Amino acid sequence: MDNNDILKKVISYSKANGFIYQSSEIYDGLSAVYDYGPYGSELKNNLKEFWWKSMTQMNDNIVGIDSSVFMDPMTWKASGHIDAFNDPLIDNKDSKKRYRADVLIEDYIFKISSKVEKEVKKARKRFGDKFDEKVFRETNERVLKYSNHIDEVSSKMNSCLKSNDLQGLKNLIDSLNINDPISGTSNWTDVKQFNLMFSTEIGASSDSSKKIYLRPETAQGIFLNFLNVVNSTRVKIPFGIAQIGKAFRNEIIARQFIFRMREFEQMEMQFFVEPGSEMEWYEKWKEKRMNWHIALGLGKDSYKFHDHENLAHYANAACDIEFNFPMGFKELEGIHSRTDFDLKNHQKYSGKKLNYFDQKSGSSYIPYVVETSIGLDRLFLSVMSSALKTEKLDEGSERIVLKLPFEISPIKVAVMPLNDKDGLSEKAIKIYDDLKLNFNTQYDYKDSIGKRYRRQDSIGTPFCVTVDYDSLKDDSVTIRNRDSMKQERIPIKNLENHITKFTSINNLLRKI
Ligand code: ATP
Repeated sequence: MDNNDILKKVISYSKANGFIYQSSEIYDGLSAVYDYGPYGSELKNNLKEFWWKSMTQMNDNIVGIDSSVFMDPMTWKASGHIDAFNDPLIDNKDSKKRYRADVLIEDYIFKISSKVEKEVKKARKRFGDKFDEKVFRETNERVLKYSNHIDEVSSKMNSCLKSNDLQGLKNLIDSLNINDPISGTSNWTDVKQFNLMFSTEIGASSDSSKKIYLRPETAQGIFLNFLNVVNSTRVKIPFGIAQIGKAFRNEIIARQFIFRMREFEQMEMQFFVEPGSEMEWYEKWKEKRMNWHIALGLGKDSYKFHDHENLAHYANAACDIEFNFPMGFKELEGIHSRTDFDLKNHQKYSGKKLNYFDQKSGSSYIPYVVETSIGLDRLFLSVMSSALKTEKLDEGSERIVLKLPFEISPIKVAVMPLNDKDGLSEKAIKIYDDLKLNFNTQYDYKDSIGKRYRRQDSIGTPFCVTVDYDSLKDDSVTIRNRDSMKQERIPIKNLENHITKFTSINNLLRKI
């Protein structure tokens, strides 16, 4: 299956199984906006819980807040978003479609790198066990030609982006003969800047209302509350403020499902440090965040760091943690050393002192900030696309199973009476009522047991508990594990401990 097919499969699976729906579907859908269904919301909540607890509960020096979406519009002047939160856009005059100029070039690069991968695949097949991929990549003429071309195009694009050279981007698109995927033509407009913030008006009457923005990142709510948190709690530098919340960006290109949305959720943490110590903290947070991802168990090789060459206006160091999505390695989380840019500018625009008085050293300063910023929806996509598996079974049939880490599965256990006669359902309902106090539990009584197992596999339920005639006599049940499909007999009184042992979010927290 090629990458596009995997993504398509995840999209249709997510819809058919109650994880994610297109927003406003009955009105033909709102582009780049999605709704989470019953299982999707549970899974998303579990991911939030893992992040929130790992930040606030597991670190003495990190506290959480929940700030509003609307903020004084001056916030965005101070943060630089009004002047610099732009993407370079280009229109195709024939299809009338709008694209991000840098994304068109990145897609071109992706096509060339797919050619490299094809060459490698062919050679691996040809040489079998003797194949040395490293040597092949370093010496094969065709691969070298493609790789040099990729480097050349990337470096030209990066330098245009860095210097805001819009004409340079247009020239690059022309020189590479990039065509619109829809019209197939290269009839492009010039490249223009496009601000990504949504705006609306606050206030009822036309003279008193003012233009405000829907926040494009949650971070500014943290900066605006920096002083409140310092003055109302016992935090001392170095300390962090964490927040989970919605952010809004009028993205030019709407595609790749929940990877790039116009309304999405961020989980951000701003860590305030003494000026001069930011690089040390930046390295620490890089390591900590990578460990957090690895603890989820999707595989170490699915992640890599990508250091930024083009730094945003506020940063003195930045990198992404990239994940191997169905579309290839792409940004999942950003780690940025934001200097004192934000607090300094809020101090300037608000006229309020945002200094921190360090009692230990007796000095007063504007702290530097190291930020970790992860998109919850991208995290969801990483988990969902890794978990969806089709497995061949012994008897020649197949099962579709969502191999989510047990700790984040939406439903932890399903209770199933063998049939609804002879008191089996009464017994099963009693077990169900008990378990649901601790776990998200389903009572599943329709169809054959085999069909019920498949149904639970398809939403990633780690355990199925079957109540049979022996259960009436010996107070024990059969518990079946989703991944091994092994069944074991356990006393009903041990169920809670057994399920807790394998599904508690603490298992993940212990690993970080
Ligand atoms: P990209 O380069 O992909 O546009 P970004 O560098 O603008 O992302 P940041 O501003 O660093 O992203 O935001 C932090 C995180 O928020 C990203 O790592 C990503 O996980 C998430 N994110 C950003 N934009 C979107 C979006 N439009 N839809 C979903 N998640 C997003």
